[in-house]
Amino acid sequence: MQNRAESRTPVTVIGLGLMGQALAGAFLREGHPTTVWNRTAARAEQLVAQGASLADSAGEAVAASPLVVVCVTDHDAVHKLLEPLGDVLDGRVLVNLTSGTSQETRDTAEWASRRGAAYLGGAIMAIPQAIGTEEALILYCGPRSTFALHEATLRSLGAGAMYLGADHGLSTLYAAAGASLMWSVLNGFLYGAALLDTAGVDASTFVSFARQNIATAAGWLSGYAQQIHDGAYPASDATIDTHLAAMDLLVHESEALGVNADLPRFFKALGDRAVAEGHGGDGYAAVIELFRRTSEVRV
Ligand code: NAP
Repeated sequence: MQNRAESRTPVTVIGLGLMGQALAGAFLREGHPTTVWNRTAARAEQLVAQGASLADSAGEAVAASPLVVVCVTDHDAVHKLLEPLGDVLDGRVLVNLTSGTSQETRDTAEWASRRGAAYLGGAIMAIPQAIGTEEALILYCGPRSTFALHEATLRSLGAGAMYLGADHGLSTLYAAAGASLMWSVLNGFLYGAALLDTAGVDASTFVSFARQNIATAAGWLSGYAQQIHDGAYPASDATIDTHLAAMDLLVHESEALGVNADLPRFFKALGDRAVAEGHGGDGYAAVIELFRRTSEVRV
């Protein structure tokens, strides 16, 4: 009978910063024979104590496993590391979890394919402490068959492994869309807390009301998506004219209370522009037309 390590795919992790150490640690905990390499070798010490093999060079690390995960600062560092290695990538699967733009990810995928590697682009939507847990969401894109081949191994890094499609830019685009949602919700909450603070309301009192509002807005998303798909924005609830009047009130309220009005001013600038372009009678989803092109909105 095979022991646990023999039945697990050997993996290599290159880049042992805060995130790379967490990735290698998660593979080790799941019993994968794990080879590691880092420019600064001292960062491998703890992992070696946990059973990882330290390669003498990046080339040796790549050669050690069929599945190679790289997680360094940026795509420049990925190229500096891997380009001098010759044809050692040929026939291997390279999973690049380094952050970058969608173009960088597509370019790196093309480069890897010229070197004979199957490539999965990835984006980590988690902090190092969450890696290997139910909470860790990691987005992957590239050939479906490559993801399917290593899905079980990649799930060692987090139960929330999500495959998005063949386009190598997708993981970074989804990550950017996720970040935009996060900052929009958090800025909305913080601005709201500042408004309520003027009446002596503690932020913790605002939390359940805020959650309810976020859930209500989330309930509208499917309808908005349908309108975006159709390219028609009938106002089934409120027109942009109605939204704009409320935005104007919000700017005035903020100014009168001495609260920073930049956020509602930005909302109002979007509303003004949408009305100027003839969308005043449309539903709010028509604002997508402004986001689809480079900015003409002046705050
Ligand atoms: P980090 O702690 O700063 O580690 C950076 C790593 O990159 C180190 O291993 C460093 O090696 C290596 N590196 C940088 N330039 C290099 C070069 N030219 N050649 C070889 N190695 C080089 O960063 P991190 O937090 O691990 O983040 C790594 C990636 O994960 C980034 O793209 C980041 O955006 C992404 N990420 C991080 C988090 C997070 O919460 N930390 C969350 C999501 C995504 P040395 O040790 O030798 O300097």
